[in-house]
Amino acid sequence: MFKNERRPVVAIDLGGTKIIAALVSVNGEIVDRERILTLANEGPETIIERMLGAVDRLLERQGIQVGDLKGICVAAAGPVDMKKGIVSTPPHLPGWYAVPLRDIVRDRYGIDSYLINDARAAVLGEHRFGAGKGVNNLICITLGTGIGGGFITNGQLYLGEVGGAGEVGHMTIDVNGPRCPCGNTGCWELFASGTALEREVSRQLVSGDTSALTDIAKKKGGIVTSVDIAEAARNGDVVAIKAIAWSARYLGVGLVNLVNLFNPGMIVIGGGLSKIGNILLEPAIQVVRDKAFRVLSNAVRIVPSDLGDDAGVLGAAAFTFIKGEI
Ligand SMILES: [Zn+2]
Repeated sequence: MFKNERRPVVAIDLGGTKIIAALVSVNGEIVDRERILTLANEGPETIIERMLGAVDRLLERQGIQVGDLKGICVAAAGPVDMKKGIVSTPPHLPGWYAVPLRDIVRDRYGIDSYLINDARAAVLGEHRFGAGKGVNNLICITLGTGIGGGFITNGQLYLGEVGGAGEVGHMTIDVNGPRCPCGNTGCWELFASGTALEREVSRQLVSGDTSALTDIAKKKGGIVTSVDIAEAARNGDVVAIKAIAWSARYLGVGLVNLVNLFNPGMIVIGGGLSKIGNILLEPAIQVVRDKAFRVLSNAVRIVPSDLGDDAGVLGAAAFTFIKGEI
């Protein structure tokens, strides 16, 4: 059906909240997709069955045989042993311990199968199909529940000794800062992730500051999301503006470290929190301009993600097209 080098791939983004399975062409076009809830508490066996069910529906709907595919790849949140194809203990998927997900997928379909961490997938996706096309030294930061990272150096995905390079969310930003679930203190994601911003707003509300977010928090059972915070800031809410400025400053401090360490040509900022836009990104970029080494700061462009929520699946697709060769 397809010429060998034009065969599409199936790419899967396995997150703690949702699973996206997509049929992706060699040009990075998402031909069709299935989006389902992860229902993380149901445990690995049930979740994997549901995930592969989504793949089956996708193939059936598109009239594609498994043999027509170049391969299949899962991008999974949390620590992944890419060489062995094992998901170890993802914090947002309770009950998963050393799950050989790559081989489970390979045994089911009998084609080339791969496994990659989702943040490393995102940088591959941006490099091949998104904002980072043609950039030799690229960093992609994903601001979500935590902060993930991925590096392209000299045009290649940089993985480090055991495939763990990119855990930027756990750079120490404040040695006297709060305790992180990773065991360290003052990690970057305690200040500049979506969760951190929401926590900072709650802290200000509890201390009695007047805000439109108080009513929203009451209506939603105490939960204020970064989308709510961004909207309140656009409407001039002082608590929201202060909290975003607080996060943006720390976002900038972490970016300064990355710029000084890696001298990237571009940093792509993605993930849910990045959708806040310029009110978060501009002050963070200003911190880089003020504090990073001038010659390095002049060499870097800091831009929002091109691929948005599709960075994970398109990165998984990119990883399949390069046949997992890294
Ligand atoms: Zn940490």
